[in-house]
Amino acid sequence: MKVFDYKKSLGQNFIYDINLLNAIVSDSCVDKDDFVLEIGTGMGTLTAVLANRVKHVLSFEIDKRLEFYHTDLLHKNLNVSVRYEDFLLLSDRDICSFGNYKVVANLPYYITTQIIFKLLECGNPPKSITIMVQKEVADRMTAKPNTKDFGILTLNVALHTKPKLMRIVKSEVFTPQPKVDSALMHLTSYDNSCVDKQAVKKLVKCAFGSRRKTLVNNILACYNVTRLQIVQCLTNLGIDASVRGEALNLEQFIALQEQIKKLC
Ligand code: SAM
Repeated sequence: MKVFDYKKSLGQNFIYDINLLNAIVSDSCVDKDDFVLEIGTGMGTLTAVLANRVKHVLSFEIDKRLEFYHTDLLHKNLNVSVRYEDFLLLSDRDICSFGNYKVVANLPYYITTQIIFKLLECGNPPKSITIMVQKEVADRMTAKPNTKDFGILTLNVALHTKPKLMRIVKSEVFTPQPKVDSALMHLTSYDNSCVDKQAVKKLVKCAFGSRRKTLVNNILACYNVTRLQIVQCLTNLGIDASVRGEALNLEQFIALQEQIKKLC
């Protein structure tokens, strides 16, 4: 087998440890009826373990050089297909054609959040997403209000899913070894179609416009409303008008957006 020249620019930190690969697949709660989407095939180590447990694995890999290493994987597992494409360029229509699916992936770190939101905001979001991310991203996804990690990522993930930290994964298990530890997250989609997600996202973005400003001042910078009106909205919700954005949980942001909608 020829030696592979790992590309850091593509987030190529591969997993060969069979115990960890089995644990990732167990944590993902997939079963023999599932269609699984994987982003970043790498050498196909996770793909092969998934293939043994699910109906079909569709895996995307941007690096065409890896095709050479997939011959055995594809020969032994007829329920695996690999597309050599940039997942970020995949159309919404293409994702809609997957039907019901779950995502399991050891993500390329440099585009983690782009991939997550491409999946969550497309016309056909997955039932669940089990992903390896840098530990600091997992910390932000699971942060509580009034902590330094709580912010736009926490709230936008919570708008679509219930995130759960499954396990911390030490950097030593990856090849080549990255500088930081990772974490396996399991995000379960839930139905909150009654919420205007784009409007809540806009409010959240405004609320964290400047971490040093109060929530009221951040909102005034984005919406055509008066200070008095915003203070009244917060009072209606029992929220102190001097708070900063990081003090509010998702339910409070949703309720505040409903109040602001009535003003605009
Ligand atoms: N799944 C393998 C494993 O666990 O060993 C590889 C994981 S590695 C962290 C991420 C993989 O994603 C790399 O093989 C990289 O080439 C691929 N990749 C990077 N950017 C991509 C993109 N935009 N679309 C599809 N694959 C991508």
